[in-house]
Amino acid sequence: MELADSHCHLQDPRLRDALPLLLEQSRALGIGQWVVNATRETDWPEVAALSKSAPGLRAAFGLHPWWQNHRTSSWRENLVSILSSHPNASIGEIGLDLWMRNADLKDQVVVMREHLDIAKVLGRPVTIHCLRAWPHLLDVMRNEAPLPCGFLLHSYSGPVEMIQQWTELGAFFSFSPAFLSLNKTHIRRMFQNEIPLNRLLIETDAPDMAAPKHLSRYEVSAVAEPIEPLAQSMKRLNHPANLILCLEAIAADRSIPQEEAAELCMDNFYNLFGHTEKAPINASQPSL
Ligand SMILES: [Zn+2]
Repeated sequence: MELADSHCHLQDPRLRDALPLLLEQSRALGIGQWVVNATRETDWPEVAALSKSAPGLRAAFGLHPWWQNHRTSSWRENLVSILSSHPNASIGEIGLDLWMRNADLKDQVVVMREHLDIAKVLGRPVTIHCLRAWPHLLDVMRNEAPLPCGFLLHSYSGPVEMIQQWTELGAFFSFSPAFLSLNKTHIRRMFQNEIPLNRLLIETDAPDMAAPKHLSRYEVSAVAEPIEPLAQSMKRLNHPANLILCLEAIAADRSIPQEEAAELCMDNFYNLFGHTEKAPINASQPSL
């Protein structure tokens, strides 16, 4: 069985010492690919280095809304440059967030549109974070459509009524171990009944968004100092091998064998992120 984690942050300094063991434990379960999402300019070099350190680690570069205030005046040129030297990399994690303190939606939209412009010119898939800003995100994505390589709404917790509109725009949706919490049953049902099978992916968001403690099968033993602006409640680290919990939930909820669920998620993963050996869709020089 082959599995891919469609969204995680394995470059996170809280995982650094434990990473070789975490990857070994994950590979033992068949997990062989990870889309490692950067969050800020300062972690782009680490994501780049990680993507060259072992097979299966795929880079994604971008600015997460929590870190946009730290961007330099040359972030856009820097992003184009690092993407150009990593032809298989995607764009992420970017997005809109009205849950965070002191959110500046106007600025978030400006930064997001810059990323989407680059995605269109370079022909790259995009990974999107959204909290409490779904109508705004839909507006942006409609205005920027079509994105030639599609996009992932990671840990999708948006309105069920929007799923069809997202699907028409080319969205994929990923299920996270955090959705196994009892207070997230409505999200699990949405993934069971409403998300199209050919758009369904699984992710961990490791080291964030830990699975409920009573279900978690793998724990990271590293000391977890919370990083601002993460809440204290996110202090428990998520182990990337907990991806297996997502697979089990999808298989159970869809009444299909785990092997079949794994194959389905892998097909969807390749449809969005491509095969690493595949040439980038737009190989021409960017005119950015
Ligand atoms: Zn993330």
